[in-house]
Amino acid sequence: MSEKSKGQKLQEKLAYKKKNYYEVASAEEKKEIFSFAEDYKKFLDEAKTEREACFASVEAAKKAGFTEYKFGDKLKAGDKKYFVNRGKSVVVFRVGSKNLEEDGFRLIASHIDAPRVDIKQVPLYEEGGMCFLKTHYYGGIKKYQWTAIPLALHGTVVLKDGKKVDICVGDKKDDPVFYITDLLPHLGGEQMSGKAASIITGEQLNVLVGSMPYDDEDASDKIKLGVLNLFNKLYGMTEEDFLSAELSAVPAFNAKDVGLDRALIAAYGHDDRVCAYPALRAVLDCESEHTVLAMLVDKEEIGSEGTTGMQCKVYEDLMEEIAIALGANFRKARFASKCLSSDVTAAFDPNFASVYEKNNSALVSYGTALCKFTGARGKSGSSDASAEFVGEVRAMFDKEGVVWQTAELGKVDAGGGGTVAKFIANLNIDTVDLGVPVISMHAPYEVVSKADVYSNYKAFLAFMK
Ligand code: MN
Ligand code: MN
Repeated sequence: MSEKSKGQKLQEKLAYKKKNYYEVASAEEKKEIFSFAEDYKKFLDEAKTEREACFASVEAAKKAGFTEYKFGDKLKAGDKKYFVNRGKSVVVFRVGSKNLEEDGFRLIASHIDAPRVDIKQVPLYEEGGMCFLKTHYYGGIKKYQWTAIPLALHGTVVLKDGKKVDICVGDKKDDPVFYITDLLPHLGGEQMSGKAASIITGEQLNVLVGSMPYDDEDASDKIKLGVLNLFNKLYGMTEEDFLSAELSAVPAFNAKDVGLDRALIAAYGHDDRVCAYPALRAVLDCESEHTVLAMLVDKEEIGSEGTTGMQCKVYEDLMEEIAIALGANFRKARFASKCLSSDVTAAFDPNFASVYEKNNSALVSYGTALCKFTGARGKSGSSDASAEFVGEVRAMFDKEGVVWQTAELGKVDAGGGGTVAKFIANLNIDTVDLGVPVISMHAPYEVVSKADVYSNYKAFLAFMK
C-alpha cells in the first residue's frame, strides 16, 4: 500500500467522520453488545406498560442489593436505594461520596410509558355477533398500524371493594390474543382513497374481546354477557369495575432479533425502554463517587403531566430530600448537577430519505445519539443545551471510548418532537438529550440496533464515572 498523501493525512486530521460501532468494536465488545441485548429483550417482554416496567426495575434493583427509600429516611454515602412513585415511576439511585453541593446529582431521565390503545371506562358492547372494547389511544400513533395484529390486554383494575387486580393476558404461548379489525381490500376502495390519518378513525379502534353467546335463551346481549361472565370469573369484575380500571391493548409480539446477522432488535416499546433499561443497568452496575439517579418516569407520551410524569414536583422533592438527608444546600446541589435526558431519536430510514437531512440524522448502529436540541420549527419547545455542557459530555464519552453520534430529528420544518429535557433544565440543571436511534418509532413493532443499546449503556457509565 502506498503512503498516504498530504491531503489524505490532512483529511484524517481535520474532517469529522462518524463510525459504525459494529465496524470498530473488538470481538469481545461484540460479545458484550449481544449479551446485553439478551437482558434487554427479557426486560422488554416483561415490561410492556409503565407499571410493569416500574415493577421489573424494582425487582432488578432489589436483586442488586438496593432497598426502598421513603421521604425522610436517613442517607449516607454508599447507600443504594429506589423510590417508587405510585407504582408507575421509579427513581433508582446511589448516594456518592463526593460533596453534593459541589458535585451535584448525575441524573439520567427516561420514560417507561409507550404509545398504546387504552380501554375506555364504559367499554363493552356487542354487535354483529362479536363483543368489543371501546378504546381511546394513548400517545402519537398511526391508527391504521394497530389493526389486524395480535394484541394483549394489560392493566390494573380497582374493584368496588377497593381490591386491586392486575390483568395481563395475550403474551404467553397459550394465551388468547385480542384484535382490532380492518377492512378487506375487496371492499376497501373508498377507505383506501382517503387520507392515512383517517382510514382508521379513533372510534374504529375497537378491540375484539369475545364472540360466544351466554347459554340462556331468555338473556339479552348474550355475547357481552358471556364476556362479562369471564371477566367476573377471572378477575372478580363487574361491568361497573371498568369505571376504575386502567387497561391497555398493547402488541402481543415479543422482542425478536432482526436480520440473519441478528444485529437489530424488533420490539414493542423501544421508545423509551431502550434508554430506561440501560439507565437502570448503569446505576445498578456502576460504582460511582457521584450521587447518581436513574429517573424512569411515566406520561412522557402525553406531555409528562400528572403525578407520575416528569413535570410532577415529586422528582424535585426527592432530590431535595436527598440533599437534606446529606446536609447539603439543595439549590447549590441542583446548580452543580448534570442530566442526560435519555429518549430515543429517529434513525435515518433510506425508504423515507426525503424527511431526513443525512449529515445530521442518526444512523443505525453508529452509536447512541446526542441531540443538542429537540423541538419543532425554530427549535420551539427545546431547552437547547449549551456548547459548554455538550463539550463536557463529549469529552467524557471520548475519554471512555464511547462510540456515539449527534442527531437532529428529521429535516428542519419536517416535523419535530420534544422530550423531558426542558423540565429538568428548568430546575437549573444542565441537561442534554441522548438516546438510541429508532426505525419506525411509535409503530407497534419498532427496530433498534443492539450496538446502539450497548453504546447508550456505555455512555451512561461514562457519565457516572
Ligand atoms: Mn420517547
Ligand atoms: Mn415517543
